Amino acid sequence: MDICIIGGGLTGLAAALPLTETAGVTIFESRPVLGGCLSSYKREDYWIERYYHHCFSGDEHLFSLIRDLGLSDRLEWLNGSTGYYVDGVINPLTSPIEILRYPHLSIADKARLGLLTLRAKRLDLASLDTVPASEYVRNNQGEGVYASFFEPLLRSKFGDRRDEVSAAWLISRIAIRSDRGVEGERLGYMRGGWHELVDSMAEKAQKKGATIETGTPVTAIRRTEMGWEVNGRMFDAVLATIPPQEIGRLSGMEGFAQIPYQGAACMTIGLDRDVTSGIYWLNMKDPAPYGAVVAHTNFAPRERYGEEIVYLASYFGEKPAPGLKETMLSDFCRRFSVPRDAIHWSELAVERFAGPVYTTGFADLVPDYEERGLYLAGMFSRPNYPERSMEGSIVAGQEVAARIAGVIR
Ligand SMILES: Cc1cc2nc3c(=O)[nH]c(=O)nc-3n(C[C@H](O)[C@H](O)[C@H](O)COP(=O)(O)OP(=O)(O)OC[C@H]3O[C@@H](n4cnc5c(N)ncnc54)[C@H](O)[C@@H]3O)c2cc1C
Repeated sequence: MDICIIGGGLTGLAAALPLTETAGVTIFESRPVLGGCLSSYKREDYWIERYYHHCFSGDEHLFSLIRDLGLSDRLEWLNGSTGYYVDGVINPLTSPIEILRYPHLSIADKARLGLLTLRAKRLDLASLDTVPASEYVRNNQGEGVYASFFEPLLRSKFGDRRDEVSAAWLISRIAIRSDRGVEGERLGYMRGGWHELVDSMAEKAQKKGATIETGTPVTAIRRTEMGWEVNGRMFDAVLATIPPQEIGRLSGMEGFAQIPYQGAACMTIGLDRDVTSGIYWLNMKDPAPYGAVVAHTNFAPRERYGEEIVYLASYFGEKPAPGLKETMLSDFCRRFSVPRDAIHWSELAVERFAGPVYTTGFADLVPDYEERGLYLAGMFSRPNYPERSMEGSIVAGQEVAARIAGVIR
């Protein structure tokens, strides 16, 4: 049995590992490197993710995979502090005192927000799938909390589609981020960078016989009497980890779900100074060409890198704004009083399919692992609802592999 996996991101790699036990596996990855959204830049002395990544305390499948790969000693738990940039001021929002001092919400607003954070883990997400997040917050928290707290966050993440996003997504985000003490959230990171995980998965799959072809975009999938033809080569089964609409486009078959996706444009900057007053995650309420400044070296120790590393995070619909790299850089330098010569390097990573937009009714869009004879799993699969994550993609990869293995036996 020869299986073709389209996409060398976490889902594809997680599926490849068990599949190599019983089948021949070939992974086609369009980019020159593996990892997809979790791929990294190699700097002279260190690796850094193209998009900021941390894991959460409940990511059991991720931890188990890390154990299997012998990487447990690299997983570390760090404090993730947060803040909100409002009217040109950095407001720390990590400790209870800082939250009490925050001037842009009333005491009653803060109490309601605190209660929602405590309740979030117990709320029934299924019943919130059809409720817009904006409506839910307005009804439960009031207009003030919506306008001055949630609306800017939703706008920076989903832009014009913010009113379509479901309360299931919002509540799941609040629930996952409620694991916090006075020093902030406990967030996991892989010492040395998440590329260690990606490389180790790829290495193990290859040792077990998988063939990995990077820089090889799949351009055509065709069903024949003999099986599946992918880029002119024959396979018995195909697992596609790319968006379902892309599978439809490449195969010419109709009826695949049209998953709404947003793009991410993320600038990584190496520089000589801290700009966020020691805060890891600074959300922007003031309008800016980025929605958050994520200071990686206020999370992982700066000594490892020999410089500060900051991400400017932004999302887009169809295409990023023209000239975005320069717009981001000049805004960042002006806003945070950073001279150009303080910046050592910068890179803009752009990904059109960075994550689904979890619109109301999304639960009904989630495709099964097998449709029209093809296997599909990825960010759009059930374990990644109502938010995609490393954990969700690993579970999706492992579940689809178990489904395929069940058919092979
Ligand atoms: C900005 C950002 C921040 C994130 N932060 C976190 C975080 O902090 N914590 C967390 O848990 N998760 C985070 N995630 C989510 C996490 O990265 C994803 O859930 C996971 O990496 C998705 O893996 P995947 O394999 O499902 O999809 P992808 O990573 O998208 O992999 C799909 C692969 O398919 C390839 N491909 C596409 N088309 C073709 C083709 N025609 N032929 C061959 N190959 C093709 C792509 O190049 C890609 O490598 C973040 C994601 C983003 C974008």
